[in-house]
Amino acid sequence: MAAAAVLPVLGSGAAPAVAAPAGAATSAAPGRGCPLVVRGTVLHFLDDPGDPPDPATWELFEDGALVVGADGRIAWTGHARDLPPGLSAGAERVDHRGKLIVPGFVDTHIHAAQVDVIASYGEQLLQWLDTYVFPAEARFDDRAHARALSGFFLDRLLAAGTTTATVFPTVHPTSVNAFFEQAEQRNLRMLCGKVLMDRDPYAPAYLRDASVAQAEWETRELIARWHGRGRLGYSITPRFAPTSTVKLLTMVGRLWNDHPDLWIQTHAAENEDEVALVDELFGGRSYIDVYDRHGLLTKKSLFAHCVHIDDTDRTRLAEAGSAIAFCPTSNLFLGSGLFDLRAAREQKVTVGLGTDVGAGTSYSALVTLNEAYKVTALRGGTLSAQRGFYLATLGGAKALDLDGVIGNFRRGKEADFTVLDFAATPVLARRTEVSESFAERLFALMILGDERAVAATYVMGRRVHERAARG
Ligand SMILES: [Zn+2]
Repeated sequence: MAAAAVLPVLGSGAAPAVAAPAGAATSAAPGRGCPLVVRGTVLHFLDDPGDPPDPATWELFEDGALVVGADGRIAWTGHARDLPPGLSAGAERVDHRGKLIVPGFVDTHIHAAQVDVIASYGEQLLQWLDTYVFPAEARFDDRAHARALSGFFLDRLLAAGTTTATVFPTVHPTSVNAFFEQAEQRNLRMLCGKVLMDRDPYAPAYLRDASVAQAEWETRELIARWHGRGRLGYSITPRFAPTSTVKLLTMVGRLWNDHPDLWIQTHAAENEDEVALVDELFGGRSYIDVYDRHGLLTKKSLFAHCVHIDDTDRTRLAEAGSAIAFCPTSNLFLGSGLFDLRAAREQKVTVGLGTDVGAGTSYSALVTLNEAYKVTALRGGTLSAQRGFYLATLGGAKALDLDGVIGNFRRGKEADFTVLDFAATPVLARRTEVSESFAERLFALMILGDERAVAATYVMGRRVHERAARG
């Protein structure tokens, strides 16, 4: 089995696999210094392929090349035979022929503070939070712990081929600072923001904002420090309705109105008991309506789960330009329910893919797509490999309103990409060998792939992860 290794975060693109010195201080560097030409099979999406998938929505270059400029941005992509000589003169060259180069995966919902509770036994959402999650999150007021776990977490994302995520830390400003520091050191495009939770007793006393005023003050300080710094963006992060007072949700709506360039992320309608609790606490037409009443449905808002919503909710989400994070491994693990991907598409709601670690059971977008396919099948639908890879790349970028800078290989976009190996395991290699079309190979990769299929991960054209040689 292939093991994972993490390269020095700012090493040259062709650096050998050596461990970064512990605690090495690095600073963010926007570019890569000299151009890079990468050979391989290149696939990226220009739009949602739909169902059945429309080939006009993607570009596939089976013997393709990608040119990254010295500034770390995409300079050119196409058939290798058409490579413009002027662009490749003096460039470093990397050969990934036989492997698939796709834009870096985008994870639209995940928790950096739940590293240690992944695979915790036997509970559904509300009990799972009380039993496992809240005690683990309490440890994040410790700076050293927050820093160590944030670094571990980001390295797991890179090893899974994920280069952008929108991330929940904890209620502690320390957790936000630790996360952004680690993301900045790796020059990653990441969204994050202090978790807001003030409602007694659903937010436990040891993990509760002392007051809405203090929560707002801390949030404003963090926004001033981190939002727009390098590749980082701030997301206002009320945990979910049950841990929020009306006063807190009102503050979030006001804050976003003051700063409409910020993001908003939260959870919605994940589990039936939770939906009933929200009805008891807030009343109104629906769970989504609670957020709507407080001005939280915006074009920069992302709602994780939305398993138990109706057509009116979907219409409102679509009208507002808000997005849903579809988190199949989490929804299955906690027994929350089956997300209706087809209904979301029919009602034109933007959907991205979320791993939702630690309720989710894998950091891998490929594993998540495998489960997404099964959840969609249980709802009577299908999920093609093309649409799956779209959701994990450009679809995620659109859900985060980041498709102007990442998500595909259009010229000028930031060169975050992932190299996938069709022969990563004997089963995948064999299945690939007997496949009769690229679509068939891509589907096998989506269903059988995991971190072992990630041969390398690049950020702004620099290689930041390489799978270790098999031993
Ligand atoms: Zn979550």
